[in-house]
Amino acid sequence: TDPALIRNFCIIAHIDHGKSTLADRMLQITGVVDDRTMRAQYLDRMDIERERGITIKSQAVRLPWDGHVLNMIDTPGHVDFTYEVSRSLQACEGAILLVDAAQGIEAQTLANLYLAMNADLHIIPVLNKIDLPAAQPEKFAEELAGLIGCDPSEVLKVSGKTGEGVRELLDHVVQTVPAPIGDADAAARALIFDSVYDTYRGVVTYVRVMDGHLGKRERILMMSTMATHETLEIGVISPEPKVAALGLGVGEVGYLITGVKDVRQSRVGDTVTAAAKPAPEMLAGYEHPKPMVFSGLYPIDGDQYPELREALDKLQLNDAALVYEPETSAALGFGFRVGFLGLLHMEIVRERLEREFGLSLISTAPNVVYRVVMEDGKELTVTNPSEFPTGGKIAQVFEPVTKSTLLAPAEFIGAIMEICQGRRGQLLGMDYLSEDRVEIRYTLPLGEIIFDFFDQLKSRTRGYASLDYEPAGEQESDLVKVDILLQGEPVDAFSAIVHKEKAYSYGVDMAKKLRELIPRQQFEVPIQAAIGARVIARENIRAIRKDVLAKCYGGDISRKRKLLEKQKEGKKRMKMVGRVEVPQEAFVAALSTD
Ligand code: GDP
Ligand code: MG
Repeated sequence: TDPALIRNFCIIAHIDHGKSTLADRMLQITGVVDDRTMRAQYLDRMDIERERGITIKSQAVRLPWDGHVLNMIDTPGHVDFTYEVSRSLQACEGAILLVDAAQGIEAQTLANLYLAMNADLHIIPVLNKIDLPAAQPEKFAEELAGLIGCDPSEVLKVSGKTGEGVRELLDHVVQTVPAPIGDADAAARALIFDSVYDTYRGVVTYVRVMDGHLGKRERILMMSTMATHETLEIGVISPEPKVAALGLGVGEVGYLITGVKDVRQSRVGDTVTAAAKPAPEMLAGYEHPKPMVFSGLYPIDGDQYPELREALDKLQLNDAALVYEPETSAALGFGFRVGFLGLLHMEIVRERLEREFGLSLISTAPNVVYRVVMEDGKELTVTNPSEFPTGGKIAQVFEPVTKSTLLAPAEFIGAIMEICQGRRGQLLGMDYLSEDRVEIRYTLPLGEIIFDFFDQLKSRTRGYASLDYEPAGEQESDLVKVDILLQGEPVDAFSAIVHKEKAYSYGVDMAKKLRELIPRQQFEVPIQAAIGARVIARENIRAIRKDVLAKCYGGDISRKRKLLEKQKEGKKRMKMVGRVEVPQEAFVAALSTD
């Protein structure tokens, strides 16, 4: 295709503002999906995406419109997947910034807008859902225009649901989004903006060609790893894969298949070039996504450990950001320490393991990555509280911090500030986006955000506040490890790294919870919370004589046997911590947040 006739654009928006629904209408109006096969959120192909109504993976579709070729890329809106969003943006020249006409600007509207501006994209401001009775298109057109610095009359108004205004929007894309520019004669350079594992076809790599040309049966080179592969298939998605006989040229968006089986060999952000004539330089901005949040994952049934390993291996083929290594816990047995991009990523991985692989899992409380500097100058990276050094030789502890942006109606300023202050936040600034909507910026430790922050924010603001955050380096903090001991034995799964001021309340809460969950034993069991050798909280489980046979009065022998067998059954699900028998359920219950 002549690059002059190509328009590459994406749709960016806060979650639920209607990206996928608008994409549906575009598929229908351009005729690539007929009315009979149309279904809602057509491009959200994963089960979990369809059920949760969220987009996890980017999708690219080629749409014919008015003699032009439009490549539309639907992006995941969530903060955990910002890296993928920013790669998708690199593959475009324009962005539709979609805002719900009944909601107005939200935190991810801003975050995505800034990403798009950084990528130098032409931005088309659009208000969606104008069919809603609660829509206030005039008010929010002004808010949106104020944000991007245009006239309110330039804000387009559409309904992804009814299709109103969508044709005009497509015309506007053709008229205003710049055509891609590249050097057709130069060495091939294509940006990988997505990479997915398909059971039947292996890894499918989505690319945007910047310069040159990629063809079928060509040896290609992945520039970050210098690995070479042969393209077995190359084509475009419209909306099902279609082989492109002529390959892909400048400005084109499509997919290629090389037969590799692992997405880590074809990473988002990498540059593809021709092995025979490699480009001298990669495209800018390749980096490995780094796990930010770690948690222990254990099979509830210890026999499922090999299955868990296999499941993680398989999932990793499809998820380059997933990292894990084996770990053992005295309380939970054999499992894995797993690294995630954030809380949503964590939930998704766990849900997929349980659903797609039939596992039942316990996960330990998530923690961030700490850098510990010892007095002798040695440095440690701690991804598990049990690795936190004990003893007095720690010089400094550093924790990751974020620049967080909160958006809410002005009436919630007080509540938001209270939450952030209570979590060691530092106010950076505050702006009114309109008369009654404020943007509040804080520096917040990531460790505070992953602990129950969203739930508190939602409940204190009745769901009206939205949050976005980006990593902003690290800060030195007064952090300590709190251990929980049963009869003097530490229970590794409950150790946590917390701020000194919160150590006491963590210890007290945990000790209380466990006192309620652990059944009485033949002897008294003290539960203690301690920092090093210093005990900061204590609870007691009183002793009982739990002789169930005494109730049988010696009489009925078969009844006695039944009871003994029942007890044995129960024992299997008991874990021993020192001399103390703890039912597995107690661990599960103590570790669940709700
Ligand atoms: P995304 O998270 O941005 O992809 O948003 P979705 O496309 O999944 O839409 C979120 C919700 O808003 C869904 O329940 C849609 O049915 C609804 N929705 C999307 N567009 C419109 C619209 O134009 N009008 C109305 N009334 N509802 C819409
Ligand atoms: Mg979506």
